[in-house]
Amino acid sequence: METTLSAEIRNQFADYLLRNGFRQTQERFAILEQAYNMEEHFDVETLYKKMLDEKGFHISRATLYNTIELLVACRLLVRHQFGTLAAQYEARTKADKHFHVICTHCGAIREIKDDNVRNAVLNKRITKFTAEYYSLYIFGLCSKCKYALKRKNQL
Ligand SMILES: [Zn+2]
Ligand SMILES: [Zn+2]
Repeated sequence: METTLSAEIRNQFADYLLRNGFRQTQERFAILEQAYNMEEHFDVETLYKKMLDEKGFHISRATLYNTIELLVACRLLVRHQFGTLAAQYEARTKADKHFHVICTHCGAIREIKDDNVRNAVLNKRITKFTAEYYSLYIFGLCSKCKYALKRKNQL
């Protein structure tokens, strides 16, 4: 199998599995690798289809759901709940570097990189709390929807 995962990421998962008494199976690492190779946010079904269709990798949905939970628990994956969509996931190493703007009308999601926002959040000290990661969502209207609604006099 091609390995595009960094050793650091791989080891983090291996350590977590070991410390918590889970077996280090080939399936679990294949799921981690696929999750880290996804270009965009994904839901579990998309990941399942991708592994099956493109890699011919047969895994049970139970294993997939269970492994995704482990990856969230050891903070290699971030879970997003964008509006009414099924939960979406993305690699922690990507999620750390952007925030999301979400159109409440069409559901479009855009990623915005802004070091000022990032630093402001990361440097924020919160008493009696140790921050580990963050997700920031800004809700509103995308320009397409705003234009369409204005034309229909709904805005
Ligand atoms: Zn994102
Ligand atoms: Zn929109």
